[in-house]
Amino acid sequence: MYGLIDCNNFFVSCERVFNPRLRNKPVIVLSNNDGCAVALSNEAKALGLKRGMPYFKIKDLCNQHDVSVLSGNHKLYGDMSARVMATISATIDEIEVYSVDEAFLDLSGHTTDSVVDMGRELVRNIRRSTGIPTSLGIAPTKTLAKIASHFAKKYPGYRSVCLIDNVDKRIKALELTPIGDVWGIGRRLLPKLNMVGIDTALQFAQLKESDVKRIMNVNGLRTWAELNGQSCIAIEQEEAPRKQVCCSRSFNRCLETIDELTQAVASFATIASRKLREQNLAAVSVSVFIHTNAFRKDLEQYFNSAHRQLPEPSVDTMTITATAIDCLKAVYRKGYLYKKVGIMITEVVDADHIQTSLFTEPHDRERRKRLMNVLDNINSTSIAHDKVHIASYDSVRDYIKCDNKSPLYSTHLTDIITVNCNNG
Ligand SMILES: [Mg+2]
Repeated sequence: MYGLIDCNNFFVSCERVFNPRLRNKPVIVLSNNDGCAVALSNEAKALGLKRGMPYFKIKDLCNQHDVSVLSGNHKLYGDMSARVMATISATIDEIEVYSVDEAFLDLSGHTTDSVVDMGRELVRNIRRSTGIPTSLGIAPTKTLAKIASHFAKKYPGYRSVCLIDNVDKRIKALELTPIGDVWGIGRRLLPKLNMVGIDTALQFAQLKESDVKRIMNVNGLRTWAELNGQSCIAIEQEEAPRKQVCCSRSFNRCLETIDELTQAVASFATIASRKLREQNLAAVSVSVFIHTNAFRKDLEQYFNSAHRQLPEPSVDTMTITATAIDCLKAVYRKGYLYKKVGIMITEVVDADHIQTSLFTEPHDRERRKRLMNVLDNINSTSIAHDKVHIASYDSVRDYIKCDNKSPLYSTHLTDIITVNCNNG
């Protein structure tokens, strides 16, 4: 049997742990640069707000209903996610962290009689240890477990845990599930299925295997089998190795000069280099792209990108930044107003197995590696947070909109929560 734990309204729940004033109130969390709503509390959903709505379009409605609007604080969410996953791992041996707020559990050792009680205890334990409310779906396949978790979340009667363990329950659940909500049915497949008259998961599950093969690829066939209770997708404990690192942002105002863009590129290169080192990867090449604001039809438009191969794979912030600035210089044209710039590292190798160049001194490389380690160690402490950096670096925050970001309560000592004991 499989379980799927899903954190309820995760980003909003993280904020509520540290700011109880947000409880029972409409709350939304915005995407990078305060662009659109990415997470909503149930109270906000009840007002008709939806994920993906651009903030400028819903601003009036938010003011009208006193909605708390927060900028995304992904460092906080990442840390809270790690705590939730650690709490699950303390009880369950095999877990697959599927996303920041979801994990699949291997429950094969449990019987159907005891698994619901065990699940409720786990949900209680996560709430007690982290403050985050979760829902758990349990079923014979991962795809069905995911459906069960939706029911566990939606209907309070399940008391956070929904078990699909017989044909009747499975049929009932599939009947109530729109086909577009099924895990593995992508946006591309949905119109295809709707066109042949399939709107619910049950209609899809009841197709003949030969019909499924005709209209779907092998993944679609697996989803079909899983919906019929036949497990085809196992728990994957090994994280798939990352193949690329990207860091880009839209600016809150347009940038015009090469100096401003250089500072932004240097900042992104610094972040990207650190991401590489965290994953023990080295960059083989670096690309930079820039573009103007596509929504401003009144302005002249320009988009370009440049790509440079490094002399040898590198994890070094200085080398990667210098190469990125080089790329920027190649694509920068004076006279345009730039809205977005980004750096992409699309080719990476394992940092422990670098094919070195004939012309580099191994000694230099060792010294640079030690320097980067020192840099990372200093910058990761809460007090010196990102204080040591190369000269061309400039805090990205000056260009990015995030007006209502909460403090880093759980990872930075300087941001630690203050408790007001004054009742009067
Ligand atoms: Mg969730």
